Amino acid sequence: AGGASTSASGLRKRQKKIAVLTSGGDSAGMNAAVRAVVRQSIARGCQAFIIREGWEGLVRGNSTEITPAATPFRSPSGPHSPSLEATKSVSFSSLPPTQQLKLESAAAAADAEEHEANTVPHAVNYTDPNWIAPLSDAPLSFGYGELLKDGAGEGDIDELAAHGGAGLVMADQKDQAGRSLKGKYIVRVGWDDVRGWLGEGGTLIGSSRCPSFRTREGRLQAANNLIDFGIDCLAVCGGDGSLTGADKLRGEWPGLVQELHNDGKISDQQAEAYRHLNIVGLVGSIDNDMSMTDLTIGALTALHRICEAIDSISSTASSHSRAFVIEVMGRHCGWLALLAGIATGADFVFIPESPPKTEDWESEMCDLLKSHRLVGKRKSIVIVAEGALDRNLKPIKPDYVKKILVDRLGLDTRVTTLGHTQRGGKPCAFDRILPTLQGVQAVQALLDATPETPSYMIGIVENKITQVPLLEAVAQTQAVAEAIESKHFDKAMSYRDSEFREMLQAFQISSSLTAHDHVPENKRLRIGIIHVGAPAGGMNAATRQAVRFCHNRGHTPLAIYNGFEGLLDDNVSELSWLRVDTWTTRGGSELGTNRVLPSTDIGQVAAAFQRHGLDALLVIGGFEAFHSVLTLEQNRSNYPSFNIPMIHLPATISNNVPLTDFSLGSDTSLNALVDACDAIKQSASASRNRVFVVETQGGMSGYIATLGALAVGAVLVYTPEEGISLKLLQEDVEFLRERYELDVKGKSEGRLVIKSEKSSTIYNTETLTKILKEEGKDLFDARSASLGHTLQGGVPSPLDRTRAARLALRCMQFLEEHGTPHAQTSRGKRAASPSTATMIAIRGSKIVYATMDDVLKDTDMKLRRGKDVWWGDIKRLAEVMGGRTGLIASS
Ligand code: ATP
Repeated sequence: AGGASTSASGLRKRQKKIAVLTSGGDSAGMNAAVRAVVRQSIARGCQAFIIREGWEGLVRGNSTEITPAATPFRSPSGPHSPSLEATKSVSFSSLPPTQQLKLESAAAAADAEEHEANTVPHAVNYTDPNWIAPLSDAPLSFGYGELLKDGAGEGDIDELAAHGGAGLVMADQKDQAGRSLKGKYIVRVGWDDVRGWLGEGGTLIGSSRCPSFRTREGRLQAANNLIDFGIDCLAVCGGDGSLTGADKLRGEWPGLVQELHNDGKISDQQAEAYRHLNIVGLVGSIDNDMSMTDLTIGALTALHRICEAIDSISSTASSHSRAFVIEVMGRHCGWLALLAGIATGADFVFIPESPPKTEDWESEMCDLLKSHRLVGKRKSIVIVAEGALDRNLKPIKPDYVKKILVDRLGLDTRVTTLGHTQRGGKPCAFDRILPTLQGVQAVQALLDATPETPSYMIGIVENKITQVPLLEAVAQTQAVAEAIESKHFDKAMSYRDSEFREMLQAFQISSSLTAHDHVPENKRLRIGIIHVGAPAGGMNAATRQAVRFCHNRGHTPLAIYNGFEGLLDDNVSELSWLRVDTWTTRGGSELGTNRVLPSTDIGQVAAAFQRHGLDALLVIGGFEAFHSVLTLEQNRSNYPSFNIPMIHLPATISNNVPLTDFSLGSDTSLNALVDACDAIKQSASASRNRVFVVETQGGMSGYIATLGALAVGAVLVYTPEEGISLKLLQEDVEFLRERYELDVKGKSEGRLVIKSEKSSTIYNTETLTKILKEEGKDLFDARSASLGHTLQGGVPSPLDRTRAARLALRCMQFLEEHGTPHAQTSRGKRAASPSTATMIAIRGSKIVYATMDDVLKDTDMKLRRGKDVWWGDIKRLAEVMGGRTGLIASS
């Protein structure tokens, strides 16, 4: 065990050095990944390095020598290192011996860990204490990393430009402490160097394309630099090209080390100590084009940008009854185009993996758009992926599509190419959370690595962070492109994850208006759709998908307006195809919703079911929706009209529905929280030493607070699950004081504390804020802000819209499978098994249909939430990322 960190002669284990770089095209969330790798490395007792400008920086290394003694590195004050003045900068090597020892023992503990072979694919268990906990009680070293003296001069920049990397070195770029970074590519970083990085778009450490890394010579130089710096663990965030390069480096490593040794560039000891290189890949790519992971870092933010643009275009398109052809990114992958199509309710999408069904796609498209116009649609939106092809591999270009629409349909058509706007901007909530979780796992994978284990790629499947062999993922990704090139489109689709395939199906169903998919007459159902509880983003998108499914299959979609109250008033009517057309983008609840349960008048509810001839029921909503289906199921023996298939689709911003990892609306809500907190943090930072206590909604569920804290980089989070005790408060105050004491004078920042409104009745937001204000004394001030109903969000997030479409499709397929039309059953004879009253739930990496019994087992009816929540340990992780480690262990 320990691999490279143990020399054969049994020398004392050295502190691990972990470096991170970003490569290839930039994507939102890369900074969050770097931050997580850096902080988790430090939290686990390792040294953290960043490599600027991707592989280019690694090949170039640093042009001037760095003397560790001149490296300022501040250590924490307090009980662990009482001799140090809090605000003084000291070199790492001048830390008191006890402190150095503690850090080294942490590294030794890391090395001493048993390196068990990973099962593949390996899903991460959030509750694994090793995953989050620091390796020892060593205190965190806050502060900045290396002070870099000016290195290379202007000539160096010119040289780089000539090398194909124009603009690689920013002459005036400075790090967060205002120090020049000129000419330095491999930089040791401290905890505070990555402060505030969560909300920044692109990559702050730079990225580039590096032709020289494609050559063995370049990789030899890279290996030399890594060994010079004593780095044997490398986290690479980039696309498939960057990760291929990473695997190549690892594969060649023994040979490269041998060559360096033979050439006398490294010592015997170095050759021995660096026999192995550990590499882990994080996928940063806006196209979401990597196989074996559902999502890549940055893809969802790109989808946000696209949806914002198309939402804006839609209103003008509708006003003038125009058609718009919109080109989005995606050379080999249609994910962005497809999901944008679903999220914005587009009419037609062109993607590389699944070309139009017929060779005469022009007619196929025109027929479809014409059918939409004939039922009264005023706008037409066609989305074209950059790499869209027809069945003969001929590129489909927006201008040609426009020409067809003008010539054949006479539509006033415009082309919009979204271009680089898709890359940029602030990462959405998920692109802060995902890279943070993955960055933490990347460090874990590096610490676990042995010479025998393959390099891993960190991915995500549904809600599980996974790690899969990097090469396998890259190979499968490349196989998609190859399958397309050889016109094996079904094969290309089969290499895409199941979510992608379901999304395509959802889109096809929602945009089609033809009758050829109708089920036989005697199978056609009257399907009720009802919203119950508080509104949540995605409810309308789910309803739209359900209605479109009904039209596609010949069923009758019946809207039940205003919940069960409306049902009792016979506020029920059929929904047309066109009526729901714009519902994907609408927040709130178009059907109207309230908290009235069927138990209000169960007999009358049963009678209404009978009156309206309901054959199946889709219930969209939060905890009350689950309660409603449960009540209906429990009353089946008394009321035969409840003997129909029913399914609950969870939708609530609190995410408090038991059993499911996610409810619709929770992503919209997280994004609303992130937007609000970014603004608050700006204000907090402007006033320097200010702590903002931000109160969130969420009932008895701490989901929004916890994931929100992770997404905005809050230092503390209070949840109803954990509550607040006097002891905890005392420790938190102590932590905040320590943290502010450690800030470099004049560089203090605002900090956020996220508090669920129901985390304590005694220590409410006002009291908590007063306590912090009082105890902060001259170190920090405290203010509060309550986000209230703003958390319901305005326009639903793309994730909620697309998730709504996919889950609603699954719900409708379930109802269709289990439903029997009224006419086929004699009155009172209808029977139903408990398995036909269900909830659709995202469980780890799977989507399941849970019976009411299953859900009940996981439910705390009094607290109205699940008994077990997956984000419980994320609270600790969020706080560790905020720097609160040692004290947590003792609480
Ligand atoms: P994007 O998804 O934005 O295209 P990417 O990582 O695939 O990202 P590439 O330009 O393919 O982007 O690769 C980035 C860098 O990774 C290259 O400039 C090169 O330095 C390195 N790289 C790519 N492919 C290889 C390879 N086969 N061998 C060695 N290095 C490679």
